Amino acid sequence: MSLLVQKYGGSSVATIERIKHVAEKVWAAKRAGHDVIVVVSAMAGETNRLLGLAHEISEMPDEREKDVLLASGEQVSIALLSLALKERGQPSRSFLGHQVRIETDNVYGKARIRNIDSRRILQSLKEGEVVVVAGFQGIDEDDNITTLGRGGSDTTAVALAAFLNARACEIYTDVEGVFTTDPGICADAQKLPRISYEEMIELASTGAKVLEIRSVEFAKRFAVPVHVRSTFSDIEGTWVVKEDESMEDLLVSGVSYDKNEVKITILRVPDRPGLAAQVFGPIADAHIVVDMIIQNASADGTTDLTFTVSKADYKKALSIVEKTAPAIAAKGVDVDTDIAKVSVVGVGMRTHAGVAAKMFRVLAEEGVNIEMISTSEIKISVVIDAKYTELAVRVLHEAFIGKQGNV
Ligand code: ADP
Ligand code: ASP
Ligand code: MG
Repeated sequence: MSLLVQKYGGSSVATIERIKHVAEKVWAAKRAGHDVIVVVSAMAGETNRLLGLAHEISEMPDEREKDVLLASGEQVSIALLSLALKERGQPSRSFLGHQVRIETDNVYGKARIRNIDSRRILQSLKEGEVVVVAGFQGIDEDDNITTLGRGGSDTTAVALAAFLNARACEIYTDVEGVFTTDPGICADAQKLPRISYEEMIELASTGAKVLEIRSVEFAKRFAVPVHVRSTFSDIEGTWVVKEDESMEDLLVSGVSYDKNEVKITILRVPDRPGLAAQVFGPIADAHIVVDMIIQNASADGTTDLTFTVSKADYKKALSIVEKTAPAIAAKGVDVDTDIAKVSVVGVGMRTHAGVAAKMFRVLAEEGVNIEMISTSEIKISVVIDAKYTELAVRVLHEAFIGKQGNV
């Protein structure tokens, strides 16, 4: 029998009615002759609700206890889906991350999956059961509960597909696939029939939350075909696959945005070797990922050092930087929480010049000021004032992709 991994996101299991609908879909896949492992997220809004409770007690909640709390959301949805399957006459068994066992490192809140001991899953599948696994969670080597970071159920699903050699991983969500931009803010967004792992990694890392970035990294490393599709219709979605030559014909395949970053500036840092290392060393030690960095030298021999981190990490990053700044004789620290990163992504950029120039011109014509820029081989990102996000996404989509799409 062929093994299929299906993942259903929070909005797909938001109500009992929807959970019953998911049970029907899972049952149909089982009846079609597949062994099925289902990964589910917490019911929509639940993870945020739990996070809110923790923040009512503490501004910076203890990371270990926060993970114990957040992991409880998925415990509810796996049990409910398993109940719905049994009610439907389909034998099923639910598992928490530590029961499976999904082994991770010990970085709470953003743990990485190291290994999956699949024995219990295989035994359950052999007995004809549908296996329902809690997304987003695992266990470290000291048996502490860990979580994988927001959106992490995607990663659980792709990792299971990789470790168990599934024929595909289906990601069921509230849109019909991966679009040229977020269909929630741009009516002209087009569904892509296919997208390369590389482009999807860039889109995910620049805010297109339809797939979590680590899930795509896993899929690429283990060549897992990923099919992103809607829970609420049967039409084909988007296949995330290995790049092929035809994909380079498209200059830009997607426009993404991220309002989840914060800009921190350390003012007037003396311009001496080693100071950047002194600033970023302790931030890295705290497992905080720094995204963009710029350094502006000024005439008085000092530099302003500006960088961005995610909103989830910024209070921790700020408290570290506020300790470092006086130690390196900097003049102060500035924070801007009202920023957005807008990016254009496409493997075609490798072979075409002029994308950056066109992007800057289009934004200039709308009077949007660019505060930071970063590029990779297949991506250009700019930081702008958050209030222009939707406008910037729409004009860039119009300029690079157009109303009919470029697919
Ligand atoms: P789930 O709860 O199923 O994991 P998410 O909310 O994490 O779903 O991801 C789906 C959402 O991602 C969509 O509702 C859409 O608004 C957003 N999104 C952002 N960029 C894109 C894109 N390029 N294509 C499709 N959806 C996108
Ligand atoms: N429930 C977690 C979250 O809201 C994980 C997920 O949905 O993928 O981020
Ligand atoms: Mg998600």
